[in-house]
Amino acid sequence: MALSRNGSSHGESRIIRQAYFEDPCYVPLLLRAYELWRDLERKSGSRLLRVTRGMMLGREASPAIAGSVASCRQWNLPHRVLTASEVRREFPAFSPGPDVVAVLEPMAGVLPPEEAILNHLRLAAAIGAELRFGSRVIAWEARGASIEVVTDSGRQRLDRLVITAGAWTSELLAGWPLPLEVERQLMVWLAPRSTAEFDPRRFPVFLYDPPEGQAVYGFPTLDGRSVKAARHHGGELTTPASLRRQWDAAEAQVVRQDLAELLPGLRDAEVVTAKVCMYTDTPDLHFAIGAHPADERVQVACGFSGHGFKFSPVIGEIMAELALDGRTRHPIAPLRASRLG
Ligand SMILES: Cc1cc2nc3c(=O)[nH]c(=O)nc-3n(C[C@H](O)[C@H](O)[C@H](O)COP(=O)(O)OP(=O)(O)OC[C@H]3O[C@@H](n4cnc5c(N)ncnc54)[C@H](O)[C@@H]3O)c2cc1C
Repeated sequence: MALSRNGSSHGESRIIRQAYFEDPCYVPLLLRAYELWRDLERKSGSRLLRVTRGMMLGREASPAIAGSVASCRQWNLPHRVLTASEVRREFPAFSPGPDVVAVLEPMAGVLPPEEAILNHLRLAAAIGAELRFGSRVIAWEARGASIEVVTDSGRQRLDRLVITAGAWTSELLAGWPLPLEVERQLMVWLAPRSTAEFDPRRFPVFLYDPPEGQAVYGFPTLDGRSVKAARHHGGELTTPASLRRQWDAAEAQVVRQDLAELLPGLRDAEVVTAKVCMYTDTPDLHFAIGAHPADERVQVACGFSGHGFKFSPVIGEIMAELALDGRTRHPIAPLRASRLG
C-alpha cells in the first residue's frame, strides 16, 4: 500500500491527549477515540497508542493551561497542576521559568500515524472496502439518484460521497466557499548529547505556550537518538500545489532556539532531519464537519487545524453515520461546517 507523505499525516508521531485546551467539547470525542484506538490495536494485533503522559506548560492564564484545566474540571479528567520547581524535580529535562506552571495528564501519549493509517486501511479492506491508490478525484456532481464522481481514471456513480481531502479539500467543494487556509509546518528531529532524560518513561509529550511567540511541542525520543519537536501554527500560508517542500538548517534551528531555555539538553543538539507537512486551518481552528449545502448525500470533514490525527477513528465513525443516516450520535454541534457560512 502506498501512503501519502505529501499531506498532513506523516512523520513518525502524533500527540494524543484528553485534557483538551482547545475546547472541552472535544473531550467526549477523545474518550471515544481512545476506545477505538484500543479496538484497532486488538483487531490488528499492533501496538499503536503509547501512553507517555502529557504536559502542557505556560503561564496560569495562557490558553494551554487555562483551557486544559477547564476541560479537566468539566469532564473530571485525572490531572495535576505542577509548579515550575515541581516540573524540574519530576522531569529533569525541563527547566521552566518561575512563572510557568504545568498541567500533567496521565493518559496522553503518542500515535504512529503511518502505521495507524495502514492498520485502518487493512481492516477496512478485510471487511470489504475497495481501496484505490494513485487515482485523483477531479470533480463530482449530483445526477438524479446518484452522485457522479469524475477521476483521472474514469467516472463512477455513487449513493453517498464523503470528502476528506485534507489540504486539497477546497478543490473538491464545488463552489462551497469554506474559509480554509493551508499552513506550511516543519517537524524537526534533534539529537541531544544524551537522550537518557528524553526517554519516554521520564519525558512526557509536551506543548509549551509562551507569553510571546509561537507555541512549540515535542515528544520523548522514540528512536533512542533524536527528539521530534515543532512549532504549533505560525507557518507560512501556502497551497498544496505551491508548498515549499525543501527546508534549510536555519529554519530547523529556529525550533531548537524556541526550546533552548525550556529544554537545555536540546540547546546544542544536532539537527538530524526535518519534514514539511501542512495544517488546514479554519478561522476558529475548530474542525469543519457536515453535509455539503448543495447535497446532503455529500459529507465533508476538513479544517483539522493541526490537531486532527488523534481523532481519526472517531471521525471515521462520525462520517460513516452521517453518510448512512444523515446524523450522528456524537456531539459535533460546535464543529459543524455550517457555522463557517
Ligand atoms: C506537522 C504536523 C503535526 C501534527 N501534529 C498533530 C498531533 O500531534 N496530534 C494530532 O492529533 N494532530 C496533529 N496534526 C494534525 C493531523 O496530522 C491532521 O489533522 C490530520 O493528519 C489530517 O488528516 P486528513 O486526512 O484531513 O489529511 P491528509 O492526511 O493530508 O489526507 C488527505 C488525503 O486526501 C487525498 N486527496 C486529496 N485530494 C484528492 C483528490 N482530488 N483525489 C483523491 N485523493 C485526494 C490526499 O492524497 C491524502 O491522502 C499535525 C499535523 C502536522 C502537519
